[in-house]
Amino acid sequence: MKRIVILGAGESGAGAAVLARKQGFDVFVSDMSLIKDEYKEMLTSRNIPWEEGKHTEELILNADEVIKSPGIPNEAPVIIKLKEKGIPVISEIEFAGRYTQAKMICITGSNGKTTTTSLIYHIFKSAGFHVGLAGNIGNSLAYQVAEKNYDYYVIELSSFQLDNMYNFRANIAVLMNITPDHLDRYDHNMQNYINAKFRITRNQTPEDAFIFWNDDPIVREELKKHGIEAHLYPFAETPEKDAVGYVEKEKIVITEPIAFNMEQEELALTGKHNLYNSLAAGISANLAGIRKEDIRKALADFKGVEHRLEKVARVRGVDYVNDSKATNINSCWYALQSMQTKVVLILGGTDKGNDYNEVKDLVIEKCTQLIFLGKDNSKLHHFFDPLGIPVHDTHSMKEAVDTAYRIAKKGETVLLSPCCASFDLFKNYEDRGTQFKEYVKAL
Ligand code: ADP
Repeated sequence: MKRIVILGAGESGAGAAVLARKQGFDVFVSDMSLIKDEYKEMLTSRNIPWEEGKHTEELILNADEVIKSPGIPNEAPVIIKLKEKGIPVISEIEFAGRYTQAKMICITGSNGKTTTTSLIYHIFKSAGFHVGLAGNIGNSLAYQVAEKNYDYYVIELSSFQLDNMYNFRANIAVLMNITPDHLDRYDHNMQNYINAKFRITRNQTPEDAFIFWNDDPIVREELKKHGIEAHLYPFAETPEKDAVGYVEKEKIVITEPIAFNMEQEELALTGKHNLYNSLAAGISANLAGIRKEDIRKALADFKGVEHRLEKVARVRGVDYVNDSKATNINSCWYALQSMQTKVVLILGGTDKGNDYNEVKDLVIEKCTQLIFLGKDNSKLHHFFDPLGIPVHDTHSMKEAVDTAYRIAKKGETVLLSPCCASFDLFKNYEDRGTQFKEYVKAL
């Protein structure tokens, strides 16, 4: 009997084990860390053997095939040993793709994956399609393939998942953008990271679709290098050569495969970055044959994703917006750019080598005051103090929100868009955003 070993028992690993068991394989799960109770239960109730806190080589190196969680780096000793022995290592998505005939809509990019994936899922679901949400969000694809029988899956793919995909075929592939990220896991070689992203087009045929942002210099430059066979659906901010999705006279226009338009101001998501996300989602839905009225309605009533430019409350004429997921400068730039009012910006945290010059002009144009929120705010002081905008030093979310409440003027927006990771003062960006919302709601 074919032996499948699964490394990592989080959402994707546990789901892969459930599917592998259902397919009748000899299955073993091994996790170097402790496994969450819900996943232990999922494995134990199906008689799937597992271990935690170690990788026992005798139980792993006898595998016919290994499914690796995206969190485990390729340089992990156990992965190197597997490669030496020539044992194939694949991702959970690759494995799950073998056992379903459902149509696959896959989204990748450096920024905007979760928003676009959620928006596409919302459109399909609102239109009454039998659809699952998978990849980095929702339940694992493998689990859903084992336990549900959806006609469509909308899948958020990180470059790490794409790395271990070989025969998987995306019927609709979406590439939002490519900017440097996670280079530590790509030998600090940008081309390796780009190649990983372009793997989303592997195995696509002329019947499939490749949707991408046509103004991204890297994507455009790379397009010809990857032997893409899929039909191309480029989108851009303005009508330009080739683009099949764009804005013209304040309307969103999609020309293929079915002509579609709607007023830009009806879109639920605001800001330029979200215009791209809405265009990509609109084209995907259009390709699946969803009726225009249904696409329009869903693009207009989408509630957004938590911690991404999320409206929290209006208190005494001041709006509070939680963009805690903005952990790099690029996303803060888009957040500021989308603001319609003057802004009190809360920023700071664990700096990953930011060059604040990228947001300098927008900060000068939009911000009336800055609130620094980090263990060590010295780099922020060094850069922003000379701009002459009043700055305030805080070291906890409560202090930051209280300060914002004290200084923000009616008609302004208090925006948490930190440009930084959160690990100096918070568990993660979700914890940071949740604390922000709780203190705002308590005002
Ligand atoms: P990802 O899943 O790729 O991390 P998210 O949808 O979670 O992306 O958004 C992360 C951050 O990036 C948000 O703070 C948002 O403001 C910003 N963002 C969203 N969409 C885009 C886009 N298309 N281009 C650039 N930045 C974006």
